[in-house]
Formats: sequence, structure tokens, C-alpha cells
Amino acid sequence: MRQSKLFTKTIKNVPKDEISLNAKLLVRAGFVDKLMAGVYTLLPLGWRVYKKIENIIKEEMDTIDGQEIYMPTMHPKKNWQATERWDEMDDLFKFTSFYSKTDIALGPTHEEVISPLLKRFVSSYKDLPLAVYHIQNKFRDEKRPKSGLLRGREFVMKDLYSFHADQNDLDKYYEKCKTAYVNIFNRCGIGEKTYITYASGGTFSKYSHEYQTVSKAGEDIIYICGKCKIAVNKEILADQKNKCPECGSKELKEEKSIEVGNIFKLGTKFSKVFDLSFKDKNGKDQLVIMGCYGIGLQRLIGIIAEIMNDKNGIIWPEIVAPFKVHLISLEGTREAADKLYQDLVEEKIEVLYDDRDEKSAGEKFADADLIGIPYRVVVSDKTIKEDSVEVKKRRSEEVELVKIDKIMGVILKER
Ligand code: ATP
Ligand code: MG
Repeated sequence: MRQSKLFTKTIKNVPKDEISLNAKLLVRAGFVDKLMAGVYTLLPLGWRVYKKIENIIKEEMDTIDGQEIYMPTMHPKKNWQATERWDEMDDLFKFTSFYSKTDIALGPTHEEVISPLLKRFVSSYKDLPLAVYHIQNKFRDEKRPKSGLLRGREFVMKDLYSFHADQNDLDKYYEKCKTAYVNIFNRCGIGEKTYITYASGGTFSKYSHEYQTVSKAGEDIIYICGKCKIAVNKEILADQKNKCPECGSKELKEEKSIEVGNIFKLGTKFSKVFDLSFKDKNGKDQLVIMGCYGIGLQRLIGIIAEIMNDKNGIIWPEIVAPFKVHLISLEGTREAADKLYQDLVEEKIEVLYDDRDEKSAGEKFADADLIGIPYRVVVSDKTIKEDSVEVKKRRSEEVELVKIDKIMGVILKER
């Protein structure tokens, strides 16, 4: 894409009302725009990142047999009354239809929709197991939506729900899902700092598992076991007698962290309410056993921005970067740069091409650092004289002069 055509611009000064680092970086670089507290537009650059993350998540969900659907955001009051969450959930957004006078909730999660939905389709043990997911907007009246993309009042979540005939089957699927989650976070480049964390469970199972990414911006506190690299959320540390639940070690390191995902054994909590049951092999009615598994997409983007940056801007992991190459044409090099741009596009390499006439070299470099695309390729008078371009990786200081006919190899090699 030609940068001269990109309708968004970078912003020099940090917006005054943004206090979180991820929002400052993402707003300044033109990935997102804040509409109001906790509500952001994803701009072309941000949308490209979002789509890549969404794609990774979809691939991993499909691998564990998740069937994708799309559920509504408007939910009837009666479903939420059935679970008593209409009154109990203090972050539930509610409104009344002017014409029908009915009360409606904006979904903060979807157990109240998926459970009655599945009742129509599940009747026998032969219909199970089953896993359904969707990637869709959630609404939560968060008390403190001040952490930029980490805590939205409207945000996208991938929520997967699984349905089983017995506990053993849920346990097996839950382990599969853990693997899928590890794959997702590794692929998105946050694996190294993300720990599976024992957290409070609820009535059905003793624990749930959170995926917590270590970051100063975190609102959670976790204790990481030095031996097995798992963590315990502070909320249940005392129940654990301050020990690692897996190896019993007391060598635990305290860190601030952000919850990027949560997996939960729901048991029969919702199937009981909505009478989601099936006939077992003996013809006896049994309640379906459920699990749920969530990941926040903007939160994941926010985490990447929050933990992968330097003083000049974001440093995107290649797989989720909006483009692979930021091609910069300096004064008087348009012809050569245009040609290289065409060649890269033909090779299906994603390029943002800074072809802006009115910008100085300094401004172009500053924008490139701020936006954080993995490869910066500069065409200047000097490089053209040597039939070369200058290649610099965003994450390193090294600048390499590469012959133009070799550039494709250098970039493709690392793809
Ligand atoms: P938190 O404790 O941070 O409020 P939660 O326990 O309410 O999170 P869940 O209900 O388990 O979160 O939601 C599943 C996932 O959705 C979370 O792991 C997180 O990635 C994401 N998420 C939750 N709330 C928000 C939010 N306000 N903005 C963005 N993402 C969110
Ligand atoms: Mg919450």
C-alpha cells in the first residue's frame, strides 16, 4: 500500500487523555482511534493486525474441532434472568426497546445464548462432544476503562464453548484447548512472557486457568514457579499454601501481569438452567457438561504493543505486523523505488510504501519506527549508486546494504 494514500496519519504528541502506554503507542502510530473511554476504532493498520491475530486464533480453534458461528450482541432479558445474572452482573449493559418496551442486554459473554441454542440440537450422547466458537463484540460496563486496548467497554472476544457427555471427556478437551492456547500465544509472539496460571474456579472445578502475560501494565499479580514455569494468581495463593500447585516448590516470583485468556470448566452450571440435556447410552437423561474458553483480541493487540516497543515506537512480531516491509523512498529515487515496490507486491510481500513527497527523511524514519514494521528498506541516492538498498530490521540497530537483485532473497529467506 502506498503511504500517500493511507488516510490515517501519525501523531507527534501523545493524546492528553491517554495514560496507558499501549494506547499512546497505538493512537500515535495510527493503529486505533479512541471514540470514548474503552471504545476504539481499529484503523487500517490496526485492522490488518487484528485480522492476522483473528486468523491465527481461527486456525487453532479449527484444529481442535471448533465450529464457527456468529451470535447476536442483543440478548433478551429472560435469558439473563434465568441465570440470575441480569441483576447480579454489575458490568451488564442494559437498555429498553422504545417500541416493544422489552428489556435487552448487550452481551458481555454468551453462555446465555449458546446454552439454549444447543438445546435445539443436542438430544443424544451421539450428538456429543461438540465445540462451538465465535469471534464477536462484547460489551462490559467496566469501572475503570483506562488501560487502552487492554480494557474496553466494547471489545472483541473469541469465545469457545465445549459440550460433553461426561467429565472425563471435558477434561480431555480442556487439555487440548490448553495446547491450542499455547500455540496462539507463541505464534503471536507473546509466548515467552505468558504463563498458564491457576486461578479461582467456581463451583464446578477447583481452578480455572488464566493465561497471564507479565507486564508492568498488568492489573493482576501472579506468582511464577521457578521450576515448572506455571503461575498462581494471587487470589488463590493462600489456598495453595504459597506453594506451586504442580511441584510444591516455594520458590515463587511475584510479577504484575495481564490476563490474555481464560479457560474454565463450567460443568452443568448453565446446562441446568437451560435444561440442556441428552439421553445417555442407557436412555437416561443427563445434563450436558460444559467448558468455556475466552481470548480478548484487542487486549492481545494491546499486550503486544505494551511489551514489544522501544522509545521510538512499537516493534511488531513479524507474523502479526500490519506489513512485512516498510519501503522508504528518499528524494529523487521515485523511479527505482516504484519499481522495487511493484516487484515486492508481485512477490506477494506485504509492503507499506512511503512515497510521500512532502516528508523529510527524518520524518519518514521516525514514522517507520513508530509504526514498527519488521523490515525497513530505504532507497536513497547513495544506495542507488551502488544498485543497492539499505535494509534495517526494526528490532536491531544494524543497517545492511543489499543489492537490489538480492533484496527479495533477504526478505523471503526469513519468511
Ligand atoms: P478481567 O479480570 O481482566 O476483567 P475477565 O475475567 O472479566 O477479565 P473473561 O470474562 O474471562 O475476563 O473474558 C475472557 C477474555 O476476554 C479475557 O481473558 C480477556 O482476554 C478478554 N477481556 C475481558 N474483559 C475485557 C475487556 N474489558 N477488554 C478487552 N478484553 C477483555
Ligand atoms: Mg472482567
